[in-house]
Amino acid sequence: MKKSRIWILGMAIALAFALSGCGQSGAATSSSAASSSVASSSAAEASAPSSAASTNVGADGVKLSDDSSDFVLLSEAVPDAILEIRYYSTYNFVGDRIDGYEEPLAMLTKEAAAALKEVSDELVAKGYRLKIYDAYRPQKAVTNFVEWAKDADDTRMKEYFYPDLDKSVLFPQGYIAEHSGHSRGSTVDLTLFDMKTEKEVDMGGTFDFFGEKSHPDYTNITEEQYANRMILRDAMLAHGFKPLAEEWWHFTLENEPYPDTYFTFPVNSDSIAGK
Ligand SMILES: [Zn+2]
Repeated sequence: MKKSRIWILGMAIALAFALSGCGQSGAATSSSAASSSVASSSAAEASAPSSAASTNVGADGVKLSDDSSDFVLLSEAVPDAILEIRYYSTYNFVGDRIDGYEEPLAMLTKEAAAALKEVSDELVAKGYRLKIYDAYRPQKAVTNFVEWAKDADDTRMKEYFYPDLDKSVLFPQGYIAEHSGHSRGSTVDLTLFDMKTEKEVDMGGTFDFFGEKSHPDYTNITEEQYANRMILRDAMLAHGFKPLAEEWWHFTLENEPYPDTYFTFPVNSDSIAGK
């Protein structure tokens, strides 16, 4: 196979996974409709969020839930972690704050957060901090990505995140999915921060870059960059996470507690207040 064809294929696959989170495919539906019941009971939820929680099945058969009772803030569960929540900022492939990110927080299921704490402890002892780009991602945010992908004219962030890819191929060729593994609450995007140099560790590629060099096993980078990827990967795998073949920064708890539930509550501290 020609090198250029491999490159294009690799980019396409990487983009598909980046946008879908874990390659979760699903037919286009109005999945946000299922979470509309949240608003109707907002007063009760303010004091007891879990008691008013509900689970619905979307039109595409995917289970949607606004029950945040098993989620925790990473700032509390993994206090050593540094947060750089890209979808709260405008420095992401869309170029806007993403729907559902109401505060620059990271949330995960208790189980995933506990495993991540072990990873953090191990790496802090080696002179690193975890730097979190994204964790729990509300369904609404994924829907935002889908809408963005349909707008072929909006390529504001192309030069940073997908310089070699034509955005118009994404939706018609099925690279965009309606659901992301991140919405199940046990998936995290992260890198390492070196406490000695006070800089991010050089991974030979950047978060959310859609291309082959984001593959964890990409070898056309320096030995040191590759070794750095493996430091992160080895620590994550040692504590129960599984990697993604297309993104060095993306890991999901192997025994995730909600393997088929996609959550809808927004990223904000009120979502888990009172717990
Ligand atoms: Zn991810």
